[in-house]
Amino acid sequence: MKPIQMVDLVGQYEKIKPEVDAALHEVISTAAFINGPQVKALEQELAEYLKVKHVIGCGNGTDGLQVALMALGLKPGDEVITASFTFVATVEVLALLGLVPVFADVLPGTFNLDPADVARKVTPKTKAIVPVHLFGQSADMDAMLAIAREYNLYVVEDACQSIGADHSGSNGKRKSGTLGDIGVTSFFPSKNLGCYGDGGALFTNDDELAMKIRRVCNHGSRQRYYHETVGVNSRLDSLQAAVLRVKLKHLDEYARARNAAATVYDEAFGGLKGLTTPGRSSFSSHVFHQYTLRVAGGRRDALKKHLEEQGIPAMIYYPVPCHLQDAYKGDRFPAGSLPVTEHLAAEVLSLPMSTELDAGQLQHITRAVASFFN
Ligand SMILES: *Cc1c(COP(=O)(O)O)cnc(C)c1O
Repeated sequence: MKPIQMVDLVGQYEKIKPEVDAALHEVISTAAFINGPQVKALEQELAEYLKVKHVIGCGNGTDGLQVALMALGLKPGDEVITASFTFVATVEVLALLGLVPVFADVLPGTFNLDPADVARKVTPKTKAIVPVHLFGQSADMDAMLAIAREYNLYVVEDACQSIGADHSGSNGKRKSGTLGDIGVTSFFPSKNLGCYGDGGALFTNDDELAMKIRRVCNHGSRQRYYHETVGVNSRLDSLQAAVLRVKLKHLDEYARARNAAATVYDEAFGGLKGLTTPGRSSFSSHVFHQYTLRVAGGRRDALKKHLEEQGIPAMIYYPVPCHLQDAYKGDRFPAGSLPVTEHLAAEVLSLPMSTELDAGQLQHITRAVASFFN
């Protein structure tokens, strides 16, 4: 049996090596490293795949979130409702811009924002909601958009973990990240559509916002050496775009492979007491960025150790919610308890999940989990 990793990027590369190598060679031989034709082509191909009007490449997902909030013209002191049960980047960009993160709790089954708590957290200062589509499944966008309409709020989707997922709501079937004003994704190597370094992209159907996003990414400039607003330097480079163009063609097949592994896990764990398998939303397909279990009774860390002893890595995403991090405690950040978030942080455990898990590896993992409970 091949050693088990959380993600097997080398195994994935081996299968697409000729295509990737040729694409990289082409960029190098033309030296069009910055804003080359590969970047434009990827933006177009991804826009077609997502059925969204504009895709704008940027340096990484964190930049994408920051750029989105800058393009919307949010001002210091504006409140933004988001999840605490997320990767810190979602919250960090709010703090950097002087915005006030107001945390809403999540639902225990899907790990995504609880619409009822989001609605409770709206104040006259609220300007935006940032739903995070955690672990590969979309938050309830019908509910988020209804709250946004009622209180006149922007919606920025953190789709860093959900690219390719379908949201089926009142607007029909749409790709995750294309329902709000702006969607953001990350091409970090281990993400579902990962490049070979850093990368990210923003999506929008709004022409004016697309212009503003491009301007912020390019030092606040549309015409070289003329700067209309304060911007940043955030670009997707051509080598990464070339890799992504190859991998985009495989994205749906990759999601199927992840779902196949998730089904094996679901079936193996269904009857185990004290273990809860990830919930599936009625309104979203799942692309399983992570397969995340809940382990009751304070046994999570013991299960993690038990798996590691059998050569199986398992990770805790995320052990400390943002509102309990040292960086986000204190006067600037409104406190409050988030019982579900805090409970989840103590229970969650993510198993290996990748496009390359084979039957032997899955059997080893499912048997190891079962042997812990039996
Ligand atoms: C990965 C990730 C980000 C940040 O993306 P980077 O490309 O690493 O900057 C933001 N939000 C979530 C939910 C993520 O998973």
